[in-house]
Amino acid sequence: MRSKIVAGNWKMNKNLSETETLLAELAAKLPDTNAEVMVAPTYINLIGATRCLENSTIEVIAQNMHFAESGAFTGEISADMLLSIGVNTAIIGHSERRAYFGETDAILAKKVVTALAKNIRVLFCFGEELEDRKSGNHFAVVESQLKNALFSLDASVWSKIVLAYEPVWAIGTGETASPEQAQEMHAFIRKTITEAYTTKIADQVSILYGGSVKPGNATEIFSKPDVDGGLIGGASLVADDFVAIIKAI
Ligand code: PEP
Repeated sequence: MRSKIVAGNWKMNKNLSETETLLAELAAKLPDTNAEVMVAPTYINLIGATRCLENSTIEVIAQNMHFAESGAFTGEISADMLLSIGVNTAIIGHSERRAYFGETDAILAKKVVTALAKNIRVLFCFGEELEDRKSGNHFAVVESQLKNALFSLDASVWSKIVLAYEPVWAIGTGETASPEQAQEMHAFIRKTITEAYTTKIADQVSILYGGSVKPGNATEIFSKPDVDGGLIGGASLVADDFVAIIKAI
C-alpha cells in the first residue's frame, strides 16, 4: 500500500526562534496518524529543526538541493550536506524554483539523479500554469514534465520518489483545484507512469496534491482515491491549520 503523506513547505518564512516555537507546537499537537508528516524549513534552520524534532515522528526535509557533489556553487547545498545533518528527503522542482530561479526540466533531472544516487528521497513537484489549463494543454504539460525529469530513471529507484502535483495557478492564490480536477489529474499521472513503467510502480507511488489546501477543503481533496496527501504551503505555517489538515488525512 502506498504511503499517505502530509508535507509542509515553509518556503522563506520563520527565523530560528519562530521555527522552534512552531515545531514545538506541532510536535505537541500532532494527532495519531498513519500518515507520514514532514516539514521543510529554510536551510539555515534545518539543523535546529532536526534537534527540535529528535523525539518526534515528524520528518525534517529540505526545500531544494544542488545537483553537484561539491564545488564552486556559491550559496548552494549538496546532498551530502543534507545527509550529514540527518535530512534524507528533498523537495525538487517546486514551481517557485522553476519560475524564479530558472530551474528547467533538464536541471531538475540532474538534481533527481544526484539525490537518488545518494539515497535521498525525492519529493518531486510539477504542474501546469493557468494558460496551459485554459488552453486544454494541462495533461500534455504534466506528461512532459514527468517524462523530462523522471522517465529516464531506472524502475528500481521509484520507491524513493514521491510526486506532488501542484497546479501553479493554485499555489498561494487561495484558488484550489476542485477535488474532481485533482483526482482527474492524479489518475492521469498514474496512467502515464503505468505506460512508462508498470502498473505496480504506478500503484505504489504516492501522489500528493498541492495548491491552497486548507483545513476547510482538505478532507474532500484527500477523499479522492488517487490523492495520497498534500504538499501544504501557507497553511503549514499555522500549527492548528496544519494539524487540522493532518487530521483530515
Ligand atoms: C506550495 O508552495 O507548495 C503550496 C502548495 O503552497 P500553498 O499551500 O500556499 O498554495
